[in-house]
Amino acid sequence: MTSDMITVPLGDRTYDIFFAEDIYPLFQEWICRFYPGGSVFVITDRNVASIYGEDIRRRLVGIPHHVHAIEPGEESKNAETLRGIYAFLAQGNADRDALVVAFGGGVVGDLAGFAAATYLRGIPYVQIPTTLLSQVDSSVGGKTGFNLPEGKNLVGAFHQPRVVFIDHGFLRTLDDRNLRSGMAEVVKCGLAGDGVLWEMLCSQGGGWKSMSGRDWHEVIRRSVAFKASIVGKDERESSLRRVLNLGHTIGHALEQASGYGALLHGEAVAMGLAWEAVFSRRLGITPRELEERLVSLLKEMGFALDVPGLALTSIAAAAGMDKKRVVSDVDMPMVSAPGACSLKRVPLALLRKEMPAIRAEIQRWGREAVLDSAEERELQERIDRGSLEEVEAILERRLGSNPRDLRAMVLLSDAYHRAGKLAAAWEMVKEALQQYPADARAQRMAREIEEELHRSPSRKEDAPPEPLEDVLLLPEGAFEIRAADPSPAAPESSAPVAKSESPPPPVHTVTMADVYWEQGEKETARRIVDEILMRDPGDPRALKWKKTHEERAAESALAAFLGAIAKEFGYDLSGHH
Ligand code: NAD
Repeated sequence: MTSDMITVPLGDRTYDIFFAEDIYPLFQEWICRFYPGGSVFVITDRNVASIYGEDIRRRLVGIPHHVHAIEPGEESKNAETLRGIYAFLAQGNADRDALVVAFGGGVVGDLAGFAAATYLRGIPYVQIPTTLLSQVDSSVGGKTGFNLPEGKNLVGAFHQPRVVFIDHGFLRTLDDRNLRSGMAEVVKCGLAGDGVLWEMLCSQGGGWKSMSGRDWHEVIRRSVAFKASIVGKDERESSLRRVLNLGHTIGHALEQASGYGALLHGEAVAMGLAWEAVFSRRLGITPRELEERLVSLLKEMGFALDVPGLALTSIAAAAGMDKKRVVSDVDMPMVSAPGACSLKRVPLALLRKEMPAIRAEIQRWGREAVLDSAEERELQERIDRGSLEEVEAILERRLGSNPRDLRAMVLLSDAYHRAGKLAAAWEMVKEALQQYPADARAQRMAREIEEELHRSPSRKEDAPPEPLEDVLLLPEGAFEIRAADPSPAAPESSAPVAKSESPPPPVHTVTMADVYWEQGEKETARRIVDEILMRDPGDPRALKWKKTHEERAAESALAAFLGAIAKEFGYDLSGHH
């Protein structure tokens, strides 16, 4: 069993958050220890009750307890359902020693928490969140409340739980849409506060749903740790806690403008994260590379980035409505690097003015995805059919115009690999990993090529002498990248280059040589290719590069020579070849 604990330090309201697979024994033990004489009032919803109702009842045998199941869904988060909860507590004679157990998603947690905050001027409650969103977000921090017909979460109270029990096993029965929705808050936590979590998510990419139990545990625990650390410093959201609103300024606007219920909360937050990243990049705060990685990650995870047909004027009007109060400035969290987020005061007028440009960029991202995937599918099919040279030429051209084109690098590496050009395949995938260390496809490709290089009988003669030194395979499945040529001063055991802190080490590949060549730094380009050829005299890409560039150099030298002669003797060379 993987179990773990985090404490939220809030003076006399300090509480623990337990993480475990099969949380019931811990829950049972906790109740017996801290509430030996009291009675327990479990509040859940009908969906959760139908799957887990019996389990929780069994754990409460011998303890006076009552169970109340509300109708599931956001529509239940209203005064009428709350009235039903008060009646349930009163009819069960709940007194100040009673304990409320919120057993369900965020709707149950917010309602049960609010009932506990207000019944008899406040009784204790515990959270057993059963959705991803409630595990990583709503069960921690003590915000409780319900909706009015006039707007969402308009009535609320801060009331911290006594303890929170988190078991990722509950997620096995959660539907895909709700699971994905919770993932948006996880992405937010990685981006705003935890660079390691961010890299983990990027390395899972589109494969996030099949994460191992250990990975789920880690992803949830890290998200909660981030939220708990913020809540511990600013319980009432006077300033710092607002960084948790990353993605929510525009997310809420999209949610409200599209009519509550059309989008799940996390779906709106995912869009908000993308839109706000574009905004923040346009203001010069978020680097373009980070914006690109975020948008790719959200797309790979299956999030939509826009609500087609939703009028920009309604989104702009909804932006900055804070609980029905119209404000003129908003404190927007903005990210400068993974895990580094700070608040910036932005005039709403500026945000609204930028909206059309932000949406245009978001829509372009959407179109590119369609084009990319159609073209890439076709290229992959051609690779599978064995039309390798043709595909290599297309991809080399693509990389010539955009040396940071990750998909082209991975496909080209695959094509070289299948053509038996192992050294070139390795160089290519290494470059992909230098630029995008966490990309799961590049990592898979690197692993395949590495295995092949190890198996290759001709390795001694043909393969680069030490091709695996720069990229180290770790047992966790991640890659660490070390400087390509560690200087003698740097001891063998020196720490790997920290991905988010230091710039990547120099890359010595043919594509980089192309980039230098295009920029006019021809000597550097030649040196890079010579270095590659020194390590691997048979590298096909480097040989081809040298041949074409030497031919070009010879041609221009000849042209210069002829020009000089013609000038000296007064010949006219035009029309002669
Ligand atoms: P939810 O509570 O409506 O749950 C989503 C659906 O999943 C429901 O149909 C529920 O019955 C079902 N479900 C729950 N657990 C299940 C399980 N293990 N297996 C199968 N089905 C299961 O929605 P949610 O996304 O958990 O929470 C959304 C609410 O959280 C919103 O009202 C939002 O305002 C609130 N929220 C509060 C905070 C806070 O700090 N208090 C933060 C974020 C969101």
